[in-house]
Amino acid sequence: MTATAAPSRAQRLAAARGGFDLVVIGGGATGCGVALDAAARGFSVLLLEAQDFAQGTSSRATKLVHGGVRYLAQGNVSLVREALAERATLLANAPHLAQPLAFVMPAYRLWEAPFYGAGLKMYDALAGSRGIGHTEFLSPARTRELLPNVQPRGLAGGVKYWDGQFDDARLALTLARTAARRGAVVLNHCPVTGLLREDGRVVGVTARDAAGGGDAFEVRARCVVNATGVWVDDLRNMDRDAGAPAKPGIVAPSQGVHLVVDRDFLPGTHALLVPKTADGRVLFAVPWLGKTILGTTDTPRADVVREPEPFADEVAFILGESARYLARAPQRSDVRSVWVGLRPLVRPGGEDGDNTKSISREHTVMVGRSGLVTVTGGKWTTYRAMAEDVLERCFDRALLERRAAGVTVQLRLVGAPARAGVSMTAPPGEHLYGDEAEALRALPGADRWLWRDASAPRSGLSEAMVRFAVRHEMALTVEDVLARRSRLLFLDAAEAARQADAVAAVMAEELGPAFDAAQSAAEFKTLAERYRRLP
Ligand SMILES: Cc1cc2nc3c(=O)[nH]c(=O)nc-3n(C[C@H](O)[C@H](O)[C@H](O)COP(=O)(O)OP(=O)(O)OC[C@H]3O[C@@H](n4cnc5c(N)ncnc54)[C@H](O)[C@@H]3O)c2cc1C
Repeated sequence: MTATAAPSRAQRLAAARGGFDLVVIGGGATGCGVALDAAARGFSVLLLEAQDFAQGTSSRATKLVHGGVRYLAQGNVSLVREALAERATLLANAPHLAQPLAFVMPAYRLWEAPFYGAGLKMYDALAGSRGIGHTEFLSPARTRELLPNVQPRGLAGGVKYWDGQFDDARLALTLARTAARRGAVVLNHCPVTGLLREDGRVVGVTARDAAGGGDAFEVRARCVVNATGVWVDDLRNMDRDAGAPAKPGIVAPSQGVHLVVDRDFLPGTHALLVPKTADGRVLFAVPWLGKTILGTTDTPRADVVREPEPFADEVAFILGESARYLARAPQRSDVRSVWVGLRPLVRPGGEDGDNTKSISREHTVMVGRSGLVTVTGGKWTTYRAMAEDVLERCFDRALLERRAAGVTVQLRLVGAPARAGVSMTAPPGEHLYGDEAEALRALPGADRWLWRDASAPRSGLSEAMVRFAVRHEMALTVEDVLARRSRLLFLDAAEAARQADAVAAVMAEELGPAFDAAQSAAEFKTLAERYRRLP
């Protein structure tokens, strides 16, 4: 599939003013997944994202496409089996954005390799014919070969197993673009500001064009889906009679921090798994886009801010645990970027008369008395199955007429190349554009590199990539480009800040005088400073 220019923002805003079968609020993994599934079943769909696609939790994951080894330890076999099936589906449908990844778990006590290895063999068995590689026991020498910087002192061996990894923000964007190809109207920078209610029923939304003059508009819909992650309670509270008390929240956010360091702390193509840290958690070191991601943490947090900041003890925990497993351990000064995501964990109870159905996975779909459908929880890997559950609930409640499921199982996403062969561990480059790479190279500036990673061919950020982001990927701000089209903010925040003015200048050529290049670049530099700074 080659790149065809997306309808312009003005065209999409005009199209948004009609009526729809479904309005989806929130353009993260969940909302983009629902929009695509519904559009693929032939429903008319409007997707509204307050900021940018994946600006919330969905750009801040550990980037693993996984069945969830830890659920196996809890004995939740059906959950793991389903996630493993979804893992295979995602790897097949987006081979330019997701790939298998081998993990090595180093063992320092004699019982560890047989103990964890047995569990991981069961993990393979649960994947069945959709498995992506076999678990192997490793000698200490082989463990060191695969993880050259592993702590050799006391190393008793290791276990190698397979999961997947992906580019989360680009995947959300690609889901939105694929939905658009199926007829959905998709808009970023359009917050929903209220719900239209008639006789106690939700019949649409009010929204605002935050990137234009701030114009408000109304949209009518047969069904409204609230897929706003940790913000679902804000939307649920718009669904109240005047004077009614606030609804108790269903989300208990928990924050996870990641630190990014250079690749030489984890040379090679294998990730490192620590199955049990000093305080009983799981820790990963993952090679990703030319760098190494270290994380994560799990810290309850009462507020749901847009840019959560890491706590000092979270940073100390990640660096301290890394030092136990890496011979040359990263120091604070080695950290290139720090980012924080909020998990939308679902609180038991608290549904305030809504008809709640907690599904055996980690997510919840609930339909309020007004017909507002709320979905939250879960994980990136299972976004597609979650979308099917959401539509199933819409049919159950007769909000939409039933149409057969399963339409996204073999639906290849925009840019999916005929042949796999991309590398998510190599520096970011043209290869991540799949079969749209040709269209990218045809744009002006394909050979003008704003930032270049010399370690791999055609890698870094070209002027053409910025033009592509504006013309085809709906980027409207410097942050949209440097945080989520290119992932430079997440890889190296100082380098990203250095590129802000150049990116803004190219965007100004594409977007014309309405784009305030100086302001967009300045806002991005302020943000980048937060990703660079450790507490
Ligand atoms: C630290 C961490 C690591 C993780 N790692 C993994 C992993 O490796 N693999 C995995 O499978 N899962 C992982 N997850 C889980 C996964 O990232 C989340 O489950 C998923 O991203 C949640 O997506 P979401 O769409 O529900 O929420 P979000 O991505 O937060 O999307 C909600 C969207 O709603 C928008 N919104 C809010 N209010 C409004 C409004 N009024 N109008 C319009 N839009 C609005 C927000 O701007 C936001 O973009 C991780 C999570 C965390 C926190």
